[in-house]
Amino acid sequence: MHLNPYGEDAVNLAADLVNRPPADAEELAARCRTAGLVLERPTTAEDLDRARYALESWEKVVDAADEQERAALVNRMLEEAAAYPRMTDHAGSGWHLHYRDDRKPLGDVLFSLIAVGTALHLAGRGMHRLRRCAVAECDAVFADTSRTGRQRYCSQLCANRDAVRRHRARGQENEASSMYKGKSSSSVRKSITGSV
Ligand SMILES: [Zn+2]
Ligand SMILES: [Zn+2]
Repeated sequence: MHLNPYGEDAVNLAADLVNRPPADAEELAARCRTAGLVLERPTTAEDLDRARYALESWEKVVDAADEQERAALVNRMLEEAAAYPRMTDHAGSGWHLHYRDDRKPLGDVLFSLIAVGTALHLAGRGMHRLRRCAVAECDAVFADTSRTGRQRYCSQLCANRDAVRRHRARGQENEASSMYKGKSSSSVRKSITGSV
């Protein structure tokens, strides 16, 4: 994986793995490959354990109470992953930076990738740009890479769900008004598109 300057791919991969944990080492390998990681050796159960540990550490970063705590937790991960960065062209697809030692098993690669990617993402785009979906019963984590930095939902689906719910709540307040009945779909659609 070529880390882009904002660490976007790494945080998106971490969120994807937290939201839908891989069932076994094979699935972990496949999901990492899809995300653009070049795997240099077979993936083992140890890799899966190490990946789970990395994701647990990362979830604490997501759920940190404030910026100070968030930074401290990222720093702890960086310290654990510590290695000097180096230039490499291992896949023959162009020179890029690796923030880890060569020939590490996938679990360790993931740990440093997530640590460094998260640090780049937060420092580059803003400390607040990592959170859980605003829909209460949706626990999904997401990295906010939007232009405004005010993304509240993990997906369009959740944004729509919440818009419909807020619309209904408003409707109940005005229940006495019979006008409401006539204007369901178009005004729901309007509030959906306005809310993302
Ligand atoms: Zn690489
Ligand atoms: Zn959601």
